[in-house]
Amino acid sequence: MKTGTKEAIAGVVGKNNFTDSLIDMVSYSYDASDHNHRPEAAVWPTSAEQISKILVMANEEPFPVIPRGAGTGLTGAAVPVKGGLILDLCRINKILDIRIGDRLAVVQPGVVYSDLEKALAPYGFFFPPDPASGKVCTLGGNVATNAGGIRGAKYGVTRDYVLGLEVVLPDGRITRTGANCMKTSSGYDLTRIFVGSEGTLGVITEIILKIDPRPTATRTARALFPSLKDAGQSVTAITHSGIIPSVLEILDCNTIKVLREQAGMDFPDVEAMILVETDGYTEGEASFQMEKIIEVFRENNATGIQEAESAAEAEELWRARRSAGSMAAKLGINNVSEDVTVPMSRVPDLLERISGIVAKYDLPFVIFGHAGDGNLHPRIMYDRSDPEQTLQMEKAVEEIFMATCEMGGTLTGEHGIGLAKAPYLKLEHDAVAMDLMRSVKKMLDPNNILNPGKMSL
Ligand SMILES: Cc1cc2nc3c(=O)[nH]c(=O)nc-3n(C[C@H](O)[C@H](O)[C@H](O)COP(=O)(O)OP(=O)(O)OC[C@H]3O[C@@H](n4cnc5c(N)ncnc54)[C@H](O)[C@@H]3O)c2cc1C
Repeated sequence: MKTGTKEAIAGVVGKNNFTDSLIDMVSYSYDASDHNHRPEAAVWPTSAEQISKILVMANEEPFPVIPRGAGTGLTGAAVPVKGGLILDLCRINKILDIRIGDRLAVVQPGVVYSDLEKALAPYGFFFPPDPASGKVCTLGGNVATNAGGIRGAKYGVTRDYVLGLEVVLPDGRITRTGANCMKTSSGYDLTRIFVGSEGTLGVITEIILKIDPRPTATRTARALFPSLKDAGQSVTAITHSGIIPSVLEILDCNTIKVLREQAGMDFPDVEAMILVETDGYTEGEASFQMEKIIEVFRENNATGIQEAESAAEAEELWRARRSAGSMAAKLGINNVSEDVTVPMSRVPDLLERISGIVAKYDLPFVIFGHAGDGNLHPRIMYDRSDPEQTLQMEKAVEEIFMATCEMGGTLTGEHGIGLAKAPYLKLEHDAVAMDLMRSVKKMLDPNNILNPGKMSL
């Protein structure tokens, strides 16, 4: 930044909302990925107007501006890879309105996911995407990455709930997209261009979210399978049965082994485990669905079928899934967790392909994920200080991406592209689509000031 720029920025937000201290710059150089690079300064703006003024200044000089929520992203999307100014949105954090009669909530981007959950609970409503990082991540970050979670099978992802946005464009103009309504067919769908745009097209300063009544009854069960094929056939048969479980998770044999050896959980030596939850507005509704699913499990050679009889038993069943990531992480100094996604019927094939690929590279790995929406999380453990192991990990990840795309899948079901997957975007999208994406970026941000270096744009 030029001499005097930092003072001018501090003049816009106020001295207390500006920092360039070393400790803050180091903190802002990371997200939850392996990537890091220091910014030159950071601000905590308190209004869209302040952000607009900063973006006008950024275009004049120019300098990069990187929007940031809680920094829990797993792809380096909030890492200031070209330096510049971090725009930390945590102080724009009010729940502006909850309108149950209109089935919507209006929120600012810095609201933490679980704070909205708490605010909706007394009305019996919820905002379903439920990322595992929900206690810390922000709704702005969720919209910017199109975050998803464990309930994706039945309830979809963030994109399915965004009715409208207020956005500050890279040139400083402030606009509103979408409508305060359950539906609109008015003009191009600008809202969807900004959802999942990872802070490269605009800064989200207000969000209108659709909310749902929360089901009051749930049933939980677990089944073990002697072969991946049986587990895969169960998933397909559940879909054919017409039941859509609220959660349908699969864990591979390596994950089961890790849970046995690292967490002392008493599991036999099987190829796969499925954890399932059904929900409804009466006990009967949730139980009816679970009975059908258990019938499917039996028809597909499941062993060790266990249905929870109490909330405590359900919690104990979920402990396996919740512990999977942290227990696996014990197998290596560093780990990388991907979120490749395929059409649901291809989940067993993808599990086999990934196992074959990673085994070649002789690195510890586990695979678990959301069988209900085709989204798997292969996690590979390695030592970043060892160049050979790092190279092996990178080769394995690239092969996983190639296999996923060959199977008609996508590089990312929920984490986004960021820096980590930018080199592979063209594996999934054809040259025309890549060109269109670059044109959209160039039209909105001709000086490339907003979060440059991300998504291959
Ligand atoms: C333990 C753990 C578990 C996780 N589990 C899940 C999971 O289940 N599902 C899932 O989808 N993800 C998960 N994640 C990843 C992460 O939490 C999500 O990507 C989340 O949506 C990021 O939110 P954030 O507030 O931390 O955003 P950040 O990491 O700060 O930013 C992410 C991106 O959004 C942009 N951005 C942030 N706010 C704005 C804004 N207001 N306007 C424009 N751009 C903005 C940033 O520039 C960046 O590109 C997990 C991460 C961790 C560490």
